[in-house]
Amino acid sequence: MLDSHRVTRLLLLDNEVPHAIRAGDRAVFTGDASVDYVCGSCGAPLCVGMRDGDLVGIVFICKCGACNRVPALATEWEGRLRESQAAARARSTHPHRRAAAGDHRRR
Ligand SMILES: [Zn+2]
Repeated sequence: MLDSHRVTRLLLLDNEVPHAIRAGDRAVFTGDASVDYVCGSCGAPLCVGMRDGDLVGIVFICKCGACNRVPALATEWEGRLRESQAAARARSTHPHRRAAAGDHRRR
């Protein structure tokens, strides 16, 4: 069981949110699965023994003060990366090329 142990760093948020859970010296949640969620800033364990997909969207405030959100599955990271890359590309290409790809999606 321990050999599949993984550590997931949480997504850091710029602002605190009202429903955030404050973490102390120990992990807020403990389970018997193989994924640990750690602070994206200092690496302190916030939840241990989780499974992928547990607690998605929950925000923890680490004792270091960092605000951490549990990401959706790995695909959320990939989606974000793709979005920002696409946005950067769109900014550097001609507007009419973008229009051809789907003008009605522009805001
Ligand atoms: Zn921290």
